[in-house]
Amino acid sequence: MPDVIVIGSGLGGLSAAVSLAAKGLGVTVVEAAPNFGGKANIVTLDGVECDTGPSVLTLPDTLDAVLREAGTSLAAEVTLLTHTPAFRYVTAKGDVLELMPTLPETLANVSKTLGEAAARELATFMADAAEVWELSKIAFVYGEAPSVRSLWELGPAKMAGFGRVDPFRSMWAAICNKVKHPLLRVILARYATYNGSDPRSAPATLNCIAHVEIGLGGYGVRGGVYELVRALVRVAERQGVRLRASSPVESLTVERGRAVGVTLRGGEALRASAIVCNADVAHLHEHLLPKAQRRVVAAPETPSMSGWTGLVRARRRVGQDARAAHTVLFPEDYLEEFADIFDRDRPPQAPTVYCCAQEPCHQRRGWADHEPVFIMTNAPPEPRVGARPAEVTNALRERALGRLREAGLIDQDDAVVWERAPSGLAAAYPGSRGALYGASSNSLFAAFKRPANRVSGLPGLYLASGSAHPGGGMPLCVLSGRMAARHVLADLGEKTQAAK
Ligand SMILES: Cc1cc2nc3c(=O)[nH]c(=O)nc-3n(C[C@H](O)[C@H](O)[C@H](O)COP(=O)(O)OP(=O)(O)OC[C@H]3O[C@@H](n4cnc5c(N)ncnc54)[C@H](O)[C@@H]3O)c2cc1C
Repeated sequence: MPDVIVIGSGLGGLSAAVSLAAKGLGVTVVEAAPNFGGKANIVTLDGVECDTGPSVLTLPDTLDAVLREAGTSLAAEVTLLTHTPAFRYVTAKGDVLELMPTLPETLANVSKTLGEAAARELATFMADAAEVWELSKIAFVYGEAPSVRSLWELGPAKMAGFGRVDPFRSMWAAICNKVKHPLLRVILARYATYNGSDPRSAPATLNCIAHVEIGLGGYGVRGGVYELVRALVRVAERQGVRLRASSPVESLTVERGRAVGVTLRGGEALRASAIVCNADVAHLHEHLLPKAQRRVVAAPETPSMSGWTGLVRARRRVGQDARAAHTVLFPEDYLEEFADIFDRDRPPQAPTVYCCAQEPCHQRRGWADHEPVFIMTNAPPEPRVGARPAEVTNALRERALGRLREAGLIDQDDAVVWERAPSGLAAAYPGSRGALYGASSNSLFAAFKRPANRVSGLPGLYLASGSAHPGGGMPLCVLSGRMAARHVLADLGEKTQAAK
């Protein structure tokens, strides 16, 4: 009998497993899919492996910390890459601005491209964003799940300081207040999408995401983002974690008010002293928990955005014509995209198209004359009941591909060789409704509503995923895993390897 069962091998689940095993606990990970990694995953097309999920790693210190617990480090396991330019942004009119791997280089390039006034605005914005990050990172990201009570307990002086993280206006309102240049405005607003939110309603505190990427750095991973999953799996196995693929959990076993095990499809029952759930909280709520215990966790009210994603086998471009690691094609009216998704519940009529050329980004090797180019456009999550008609998503796909061709990023005969609609994401990650990042952060209260990593209503049950605290995106999921592990250890007590 393992000490801990982890349901799911996404980044949160794997991080929890490594953290727990490093402290001497016996861990079994049961994963529904045939391979590990969850949303951070791959597909092999005509002999070429391509990433199908995340493409930018931020806050690598989070992963490093987990790996260090297990006696290794991120640098020992993978090679991170930076790019020049880091991101190429293109407007509907064809104007281009490139951001660089460091803030000083970015500011120099903004000055050269948009003028000194724009560079000054950006410098001031980034200084504010850095301050907000420093003020809020412990309360909202690296620390335990915040609650109104925990804020209250900070006392009046610290509560007053809460206003300095700019929570009472929207990201967009703060951006417009500080930045005049229209292209800088949309570039900064796009950081709302890093947790699938709407810049018109997400609190301005989230403008700190710009600092996280532009100021602290966004990285590629040599060989592909999936190398991060491979590293965690490798280290987990080294620590004695038992990883079982193709082992979907059908239900959680609760006895005398405590989570004590799981039953797999096919009927195999496993027992453990603690269960860490890396599956979506909504899936846990709706399908895994016995009816009587469902109220211990709630499904998120407003899921974050979903997306149409695809891989294009594109003729390789070299030299001056080489594709940038990341390119973003903006539409004429960026805010209309969010009005379509969040107000009209439909895919954007004029979508922003994100494009990751995986050879320059991750030093992957594509086909003989072609390179894999990953494409993503935002879309609303799937409906609560039923599915969005395929023709609606197909129209979004065609608009995205049309925009890529029009901007000259792909050629007429470059073919889509793999694709996944929001309905495909919803099917692969049950409970998610295709949302990429768990619940959206479209209100001041979102961070307070996100479930904590220890389920207080059901001893023995812990949460480690993008749908739990501190939220979605790779580094936050890793933190979620570590926090869940910390709670398990506090409750079960650490066992030393020697004692085992
Ligand atoms: C297309 C795309 C692009 C993204 N881009 C970025 C990016 O550039 N940067 C970034 O930081 N983040 C990005 N993200 C978000 C990031 O990938 C996710 O936030 C993160 O990987 C989610 O990890 P998780 O721990 O929540 O687990 P998940 O990845 O959600 O995995 C959960 C696992 O649980 C398993 N599971 C579910 N139910 C069961 C069950 N009943 N039994 C057993 N197993 C079960 C699932 O099969 C899955 O493997 C992107 C996501 C996608 C999809």
